Amino acid sequence: MRATNLYAPTLRNTPAEAEIASHQLMYRAGLIRKSAGGMYTYLPLAWRTIRKIEQIIREEMDAAGGQEIMMPILQPSELWEESGRWGAYGAEMIRVKDRHGREFCMGPTHEEMITALVRDEVRSYKQLPLMLYQIQDKFRDERRPRFGVMRSREFIMKDLYSFDKDIAGMNESYRKMSVAYTNIFTRCGLNFRAVEADSGAIGGGHSEEFTVLAPEGESRIACCDACSYAASDEKAALRPIDAAAEEALPLEKVATPDAHTIAMLAEYLRIPVEKTIKAVAYQTEEDVLVLAFLRGDHEVNEVKLANAVGAQELRMADEAAIRAAGGCPGFMSPIGIKEGSCIVVDETAMRMHNAVSGANEQDFHYINVNPQRDFGSVTVTDIRLVAEGDLCPSCGVGHLHIGRGIEAGQIFALGTKYSEAMGATFLDESGKTQPLQMGCYGIGVGRTMAAAIEQNHDAHGIIWPRAIAPYEVVVVAVNAKVEEQLAYAEEIYEELRAAGVDVLLDDRRERAGVKFNDCDLIGYPVRIAIGPKTIENGTIEVKIRQSGELVNFARDTYLKGVKDMLAALQ
Ligand code: ATP
Ligand code: MG
Repeated sequence: MRATNLYAPTLRNTPAEAEIASHQLMYRAGLIRKSAGGMYTYLPLAWRTIRKIEQIIREEMDAAGGQEIMMPILQPSELWEESGRWGAYGAEMIRVKDRHGREFCMGPTHEEMITALVRDEVRSYKQLPLMLYQIQDKFRDERRPRFGVMRSREFIMKDLYSFDKDIAGMNESYRKMSVAYTNIFTRCGLNFRAVEADSGAIGGGHSEEFTVLAPEGESRIACCDACSYAASDEKAALRPIDAAAEEALPLEKVATPDAHTIAMLAEYLRIPVEKTIKAVAYQTEEDVLVLAFLRGDHEVNEVKLANAVGAQELRMADEAAIRAAGGCPGFMSPIGIKEGSCIVVDETAMRMHNAVSGANEQDFHYINVNPQRDFGSVTVTDIRLVAEGDLCPSCGVGHLHIGRGIEAGQIFALGTKYSEAMGATFLDESGKTQPLQMGCYGIGVGRTMAAAIEQNHDAHGIIWPRAIAPYEVVVVAVNAKVEEQLAYAEEIYEELRAAGVDVLLDDRRERAGVKFNDCDLIGYPVRIAIGPKTIENGTIEVKIRQSGELVNFARDTYLKGVKDMLAALQ
């Protein structure tokens, strides 16, 4: 490809809405353009990268036993009624009607459709295991589309679904996918971690997220410094912390004027925050009041809390709902809350002695609260959000450190959630009817590209990992107006092409500075400059984008030199 024919409009400035480096660079390097909120066109350079990522994904899916198919994007509502998700999916689902008034959704995911496909065809254990996948546009009307293709409303996803005859089979399919995902992100040249994850709205049991490490990533992950434990912050389990033993003193109500935050309360009573119990009030989609109680210095993990009360979503509670239940905002306690609300106490809070909590009365708190003695029948479980330095729940020796990253893929062992709801069964060896054991496995293709940029860039632009660079090498005719330079550059370009190198020729009649800046911005791994020195004495200057290293080769050694450099970039 010649740059004079390439549609890659580079820009000096970025649109104000581009908040993070990858979004800004994708705009500036001429990779994407926005067509509407959360919807983007991939321009030629980006599309080459997408195709390379897809190719790696295809190879690994096929090697693991997957077969590629293509399902329709539009999905009839009836299938989603069967699984119960037509109602449950909420506003993220884009719904449309056809001319007959029949309802459809634009597929946000395809569990229902694939389960329906397989239930009509798979009758016997002999047809199992089965793995089917597709690479296709998905639609989710995200509450907050942002960061360009990282969180968009239309995006490309690879989704594979596995079907097995028993749990051992499902676990084996899951293991194969876990290996395939590790291979994919390794081959893409990314620094990532596989972390234990919550299974969210998709449902089911075990799940892992593949998180590309990047300081601006939306996901928080916790990794142990002593063992291999790693989990998303939504999932990270925590061990309860015991408080030092104390003799329980009698419960007492004390006046605490204006102490409506934990910090003010601790200061007023001259106690450490670790002696206080705080409350956070939520409501479920069915308007049930959920009161969460934790040690004053701990944060609530809303995913754990929602799982504990069996809610899809939690929102902050209205003041009226809190008062109706006998509570007083800012001064909450489980003591005296009326029946009908869910009270969930974190395990660590439950182990405190002679603590301080609200008294459900304006400007009053209880002192000498001993939850075991005073809280009555409440739900006690781990609802705490992991914090830097927490003890590892797996080895119990190491400490957890919080990092940030981008969820590029997620795998789920689903079990029989969809097969049972939709009647997808088969006959086992003994002729008994059994539900299929399923798994589902997604990768955001566009998000993987954005994550690669987020992880690999500098002040000048993108630094593509070699395997997914739009072109591996660019040959720049430093001054393309000089006939000799252009002809020489063309010769080198043809030679590289013949040697199987993925190369672009920058033959634009622009100033050298502009072209070099574009090379750095677009981030080709290797740049070859053909300038006056080349014409003079055959010196060929080669630059590695990643290290900035410059090497001069002679005409007859450069090809081997470039190939060696590329190999070292693997
Ligand atoms: P998130 O938590 O970031 O909203 P998710 O967990 O809902 O994502 P999955 O259902 O696990 O997403 O989808 C599989 C993959 O699809 C994700 O790991 C991610 O790479 C990609 N993906 C999901 N939502 C989007 C989106 N709005 N834009 C781009 N890619 C997305
Ligand atoms: Mg996910």
